[in-house]
Amino acid sequence: MSTVYESLYIGGEWVSPSSSRTIEVVSASTEEVIGRAPEAVERDVDAAVAAARAAFDDPSGWAMWAPADRAAVMERLADELDARAPEMARRVASQNGMPISIAAQLEGVFPQVLLRYYAGLIRSTELDEVRDGLMGGRIRVTRKPIGVVAGIVPWNYPQTLAAFKLGPALAMGCTIVLKPSPETVLDAQLFAEAAAAAGLPAGVVNIVQGGRDTGQYLIEHPQVDKVAFTGSTAAGRTVAETCARLLRPVTLELGGKSAAIVLDDADLASNLESLFGATLLNNGQTCYLGTRILAPSSRYAEVVDTLTGFARSLQVGDALDERTQIGPVASSRQRDRIEGYIAKGAGEGARITTGGGRPAGLDRGWFVEPTVFADVDNRHTIAQEEIFGPVLSVISYADVDDAVRIANESDFGLGGSVWTSDPERGEAVAARVQTGTIGINAYLPDPAAPFGGVKQSGLGRELGPEGLVAYQALKSIYLAP
Ligand code: NAD
Repeated sequence: MSTVYESLYIGGEWVSPSSSRTIEVVSASTEEVIGRAPEAVERDVDAAVAAARAAFDDPSGWAMWAPADRAAVMERLADELDARAPEMARRVASQNGMPISIAAQLEGVFPQVLLRYYAGLIRSTELDEVRDGLMGGRIRVTRKPIGVVAGIVPWNYPQTLAAFKLGPALAMGCTIVLKPSPETVLDAQLFAEAAAAAGLPAGVVNIVQGGRDTGQYLIEHPQVDKVAFTGSTAAGRTVAETCARLLRPVTLELGGKSAAIVLDDADLASNLESLFGATLLNNGQTCYLGTRILAPSSRYAEVVDTLTGFARSLQVGDALDERTQIGPVASSRQRDRIEGYIAKGAGEGARITTGGGRPAGLDRGWFVEPTVFADVDNRHTIAQEEIFGPVLSVISYADVDDAVRIANESDFGLGGSVWTSDPERGEAVAARVQTGTIGINAYLPDPAAPFGGVKQSGLGRELGPEGLVAYQALKSIYLAP
């Protein structure tokens, strides 16, 4: 069944696109066409930014509303998304290959958790404070919404990563133009339906799906005040250069190559479900995954065996099958990239213990076998570059100092995990890893805590109360003594 859209959601209405260009959506599991939606081009971006600008500048508009009134609308949006959750999960799973059991728990639920979290937070956050100055007077310090936001999101968690931006931006009173990836437009259109049904004022949220050129045009638009980008490090660098030239505030959530450090007292066998979440979730298409598994040399063979057996046991199949643990990757381009890395890993001397090819019996769809590499040196390409597929590299270390050194010998610093039967010891090791986030015996970002990377994994933070800061402009008013 094909889902076809003819309009773009701009200015609170479904409008005809200004060109006849369309995006064809293909199922990652079957390679069949499952839908079509208009592609936004420059004139559509102009219209979307103009609508967001007008909504933001309206003297009695969204930015001026009492926070509690905005919060109520955000909660209505969450309710409308709840009503569409099973369909949302199905659309995401069909498009990018995320197993439906995972999509139902994350993409169908997490955005609403975030919207409700920021709705609650903005009700209780003091945005205006008067303090005593040092020059005899007093100062009113206010936190204003930063303005019109350009939100750029990738295809791997399209709804959740959009909500990372929408939650704090809407709570603060910003308006937003969101640019989803061409791979995931059907969920974006369903989100627009929810926004329309929730009665968001016209222009507060606008959606312009398209590729890189549409994104680049949007972030450079003169009427945009702030850019919030999630995507690859390569694209993030281009976005950062553009924003530097324009002196435009930007947050960047980029790639990763995190380390999962297995300490010598770890009980991996009883933690396999958590280990899956921390290393292979969404077929390896997750930015924070610990795809470098650091194992003590004293237990190296055993760790390799455990991971090999585990990878072999995973159910690979159609993303819409409830039993599937590993679905296809999002596109043939992604599969080519992953297969290129697998060939490179073998060529550089690492040893494939399971996987390495395409699964038998799955001739349609962009499937890659869950793959484990042993005998990986941290300098190998597969240990240094983000693969974004179900591929793990197991690296041997001599002692804890060596493990920390290897973990930190990376251009990235986004996630990570430590596996141990002594959580205190785990925390002590975690404290030494150069990363923005890290887990002990599990890893899952929590909305209440700041999320983001160091080094080439990004700039700034999303989530938590700290996530509001990126959408605020501070203003000091000096009150004469
Ligand atoms: P990508 O960088 O190719 O594209 C991401 C988005 O940016 C897309 O919407 C794309 O159209 C747009 N884009 C690309 N170039 C642009 C430009 N010059 N100007 C404006 N927009 C531009 O990434 P992808 O392949 O879609 O996603 C996978 C990448 O995203 C991985 O590297 C992954 O690690 C990263 N990611 C990071 C996080 C995080 O929070 N740190 C989360 C998820 C994904």
